[in-house]
Amino acid sequence: MSLNAESTAFRSALEVIRAVEPRVADAIGAELADQRESLKLIASENYASPATLLAMGNWFSDKYAEGTIGRRFYAGCQNVDTVEALAAEHAKELFGAAHAYVQPHSGIDANLVAFWAILADRVESPALKKAQVRQVNDLTEADWFALRRELGNQRMLGMSLDAGGHLTHGFRPNISGKMFDQRSYGTDPATGLIDYDKVAEAAREFKPLILVAGYSAYPRKVNFRIMREIADSVGATFMVDMAHFAGLVAGKVFTGDFDPVPHAHIVTTTTHKSLRGPRGGMVLCGPELADQVDRGCPMVLGGPLPHVMAAKAVALAEARRPDFADYAQRIVDNAQALADGLLRRGAKLVTGGTENHLVLIDVTGYGLTGRQAEQALLDSGIVTNRNAVPQDPNGAWYTSGIRIGTPALTTRGLGTAEMDQTAELIHTVLNQTTSGESKAKYVLDPALADTVSKQASDLLAGFPLYPAVDLG
Ligand SMILES: *Cc1c(COP(=O)(O)O)cnc(C)c1O
Repeated sequence: MSLNAESTAFRSALEVIRAVEPRVADAIGAELADQRESLKLIASENYASPATLLAMGNWFSDKYAEGTIGRRFYAGCQNVDTVEALAAEHAKELFGAAHAYVQPHSGIDANLVAFWAILADRVESPALKKAQVRQVNDLTEADWFALRRELGNQRMLGMSLDAGGHLTHGFRPNISGKMFDQRSYGTDPATGLIDYDKVAEAAREFKPLILVAGYSAYPRKVNFRIMREIADSVGATFMVDMAHFAGLVAGKVFTGDFDPVPHAHIVTTTTHKSLRGPRGGMVLCGPELADQVDRGCPMVLGGPLPHVMAAKAVALAEARRPDFADYAQRIVDNAQALADGLLRRGAKLVTGGTENHLVLIDVTGYGLTGRQAEQALLDSGIVTNRNAVPQDPNGAWYTSGIRIGTPALTTRGLGTAEMDQTAELIHTVLNQTTSGESKAKYVLDPALADTVSKQASDLLAGFPLYPAVDLG
């Protein structure tokens, strides 16, 4: 396929859109320009392929397809069946999973599907059996009332937010925290690492129905074999949310004890982070939970997005190619080069380094809050996000950390030498920024910010983004 075809496709699409609402066409063009110019170190973002992007913009969007492959509540779903089955097949092959459910619209939605599949399997089904009925509509008012109370009082043990866990792992502001009675495990204050003995102790005391592993801001590998043993020892269902690191699992950088799929009862993920697909979610599981997982829509999901499932099939096909494994390894090599570059210049990193795609800088080492550091970096053309560090003295809003990740820049082609230059730019900005009169205010010489911005765009100039796309 010629590169020219990509350019023509996007140009033609914009022309069609411009004829209806030019401001949308302009915003789409501006977004590409912005993405091309920024040194994107947001650990959860990436750049999907043109094929993935184009698979989303079509008439699959017009189709209702409630139900599952071959068993729909709507007629005429044969083509949706084709793409959903392809996406599921690619996912199963790629991750070695018995079952894949590719309908979730996002990572949070995938988690809701998993929670309700587990609750249905472990709480609802036994209650139906006990009452000797087939389904909930057959329960008496009293039995139904009792079952609803049961469903709403189950326990979950997950990683604490400030140690890098996710809001959907049972925290009060999120629906998961309202549905579950939650306790957290953290990390060792001295090393910053998960202390598996402590997790086991918490599990023994709390006896959760669900043990959750997975994170958004933990820069290390997790031993899922040990976590599964802990779950088994207390009869918990073991769930792994690999939203952030699915690309490293797909690319076989995380194998053996560090690959969640063979160890977990159920695995959830996003498809748009390190996996480099369209925005979306996915659930993988064994045969035991498959039927319950397939009830995700309409249990907690709105109608499937067939156009996004088409794009998932394309992206998962890409992830099965040998060059994806090379990409995944480069993500980790780059993160390590970035960490080393920062450490060599005197930065303080949570856990002292990284084994995955992300690095968490403790910016108290520079006398800054996360908020001040994030803004100072942004002024200098470097896009990151602030993040809590364990036992964060500045709380969840201002924070004391900056989270940076390499999936996006690695897609663009930057390598370890450029990561060292990136570390230099980050260190220069943070080192030259001083704290202002509040946790949000800071002082940074605008001339320095301009110089770094210029250096950042020079660095990117050698690595064009969507090089075939010229919107000219
Ligand atoms: C990003 C993330 C999610 C949420 O994904 P969305 O697609 O934004 O809903 C869930 N869990 C973890 C661990 C994440 O990092």
